[in-house]
Amino acid sequence: MNVTTAEYRNFRNIENAALTFSPGVNILYGDNAQGKTNALEGIYCFACGKSFRGVHDRELLRFGAEDGGLKLGFSDAQREQKLELHLYQGKTRQMRRNGVPVKRSADFVGTFHGVLFCPEHLTMIKGAPQARRSFLDAAICQLKPGDMAALADYAKVLKQRNALLKDETRDVRARMPLYEVLTGQMADLNTRIVLTRMKYLHLLGECVDRFLSDMTSGAEHVSLGYDCDAEPEQHGGDAQAVRNAFYEKAVSYAAREFAAETTLHGCHRDDIVITLNDREARLYASQGQDRSIALAMKLGEGELSRTATGEYPVFLFDDVLSELDSRRQQYLMERLGGRQVIMTSCNESLFAGMDVHMIRVKAGTYEGAKRED
Ligand code: ATP
Ligand code: MG
Repeated sequence: MNVTTAEYRNFRNIENAALTFSPGVNILYGDNAQGKTNALEGIYCFACGKSFRGVHDRELLRFGAEDGGLKLGFSDAQREQKLELHLYQGKTRQMRRNGVPVKRSADFVGTFHGVLFCPEHLTMIKGAPQARRSFLDAAICQLKPGDMAALADYAKVLKQRNALLKDETRDVRARMPLYEVLTGQMADLNTRIVLTRMKYLHLLGECVDRFLSDMTSGAEHVSLGYDCDAEPEQHGGDAQAVRNAFYEKAVSYAAREFAAETTLHGCHRDDIVITLNDREARLYASQGQDRSIALAMKLGEGELSRTATGEYPVFLFDDVLSELDSRRQQYLMERLGGRQVIMTSCNESLFAGMDVHMIRVKAGTYEGAKRED
């Protein structure tokens, strides 16, 4: 899959710009605070339906603008497509796919496939479990948008359940019937989410280890494990058995949950355990190792996307090369053949003599954004 054009209007610091990309490696280069990440952010909005910086639509609009928008032209083996997103101050966004209005972001997601790496992803290795779960869920949702619905439903049930646990206007016995109903719903959704995450993680782990080991000439090995208390392995992955075990366990926690006034277990608390050369990466990895593992996870995400869709997604790499030593940088640049990459950097000289498409970024304007063919 290749992005051919990206158009921006009143998006972040970009008043008006139309960029054209080459099928290979594209470099957005320039000083700090010019609009490199903003350009990637706009493209990635089409992959996951929202900004990776997790902000409201109104914050994406250029300061003082009433409305704005993004258009993305991209092609896969079958055809050229166009996605549009129109943003308004104080009004809900509008979206179009090939000119036809679509209502929900979920209808949008899964059309354009992109893998994003940004410095914020480094928290994936050392930060709280939330960052690792988000990575996993975002990757899975692009491939199986239906699973987005399971996650949203789970969040809804969790909210209702927590409200019930906090509701001191009724005694525990009066709240018990609804507690059991919600626990049943949670068990169904939890099972679906956990089994999907584990299956994905198993496949991802193999790819990530291969990339990291290649990047470090065999010196570093990584493994990814799923940490949860639903214990699917004990049931051979049988969904009904996993569901029933989760339900029994959840109900046995009832007294503790009513005392704590919150839900104490479930996939909103699960984690990925990343092990680097047999030690937990969260505790021992260096900065460069952090970045290398995160990068290997992103390359792995791209491989699994290709297996599922038959094509590589577009790789959007924000400031990926800094903090990598020259061997790791070289490995990455060599590895990217056959994929479209849009990468940002402050350092133009890193790409001297390489067959890449350079786009100079200055105060929300983009020069060299013409395809050289
Ligand atoms: P760096 O090399 O530091 O990462 P960058 O080129 O990636 O820089 P961006 O994150 O793209 O920089 O931001 C460019 C500028 O856009 C910043 O000065 C930022 O404050 C500004 N900006 C962010 N949001 C908006 C907005 N809604 N309206 C106008 N400008 C904005
Ligand atoms: Mg940036």
